[in-house]
Amino acid sequence: MEMIYLFDVDGTLTPAKNIMNPEFARVFFEWQKDKEVYIVSGGSFPRILDQLGRNITDAMHGVFSCMGNVFYKKQPSTDGYSSWSKEYENQFSVAKPKLFFSELERCVMASEYPVKVGKHYEKRPGMVNFSIVGHGATAEEREAYATYDAQTGERKKIIAKLCGKYPQLDFVIGGAVSIDIFNKGCDKSQVIERYFKKALKTKQIVFVGDRIAYPGNDYSLAELLMKHDNGLALETSGWRETAELLKGKLFASS
Ligand SMILES: [Mg+2]
Repeated sequence: MEMIYLFDVDGTLTPAKNIMNPEFARVFFEWQKDKEVYIVSGGSFPRILDQLGRNITDAMHGVFSCMGNVFYKKQPSTDGYSSWSKEYENQFSVAKPKLFFSELERCVMASEYPVKVGKHYEKRPGMVNFSIVGHGATAEEREAYATYDAQTGERKKIIAKLCGKYPQLDFVIGGAVSIDIFNKGCDKSQVIERYFKKALKTKQIVFVGDRIAYPGNDYSLAELLMKHDNGLALETSGWRETAELLKGKLFASS
């Protein structure tokens, strides 16, 4: 059976928010040459390009960025240079947006956490990233908030409160300090519905991610694939384990 391989980036091909190990990059580049490979990441396309480098990115068949909310498809090269076409980009939408965003501001004001720096929400394709400590926080300030959140469960409490009020949205713990807010279904699982549905009937699709357990950001896609006879999801503890996986039989065929 023909194979399609999907990879998460942070914690799977690279350390979180970091570039690929050069030796692993060399091995991966050799491995991917005769394979159909896609990226399914929470990051933006420019960030993914920075992390993986141009050679590896250009050898992909496609890149699903921002949790699958933006899809770039690789176009056949005619002049030796690769080109990408943006196939779709989702917009975040909510009824009465003014009320919604002032509700987020009220959550910030209601929080007893003393340090609040910069903007607290950022609109991205198909989603909103919300943070009590704020997007202007330094690494130390972020770390201090992460500790506070672990002790108080603040993010979980905010999610519980907002979930009830906005049933058409999904709220997940995103990264170390923020809450990701999506339109329902606009998570990584959407890549199957939007792009691989037909392929899954005749090809085997394997997804490798580091956050496959609930409520990780790879869970929705992994769960959907595991329900299907031709789908498979594998959890990795990091790029070293991913490098080991590539040596296995499952990753040998094209
Ligand atoms: Mg990851």
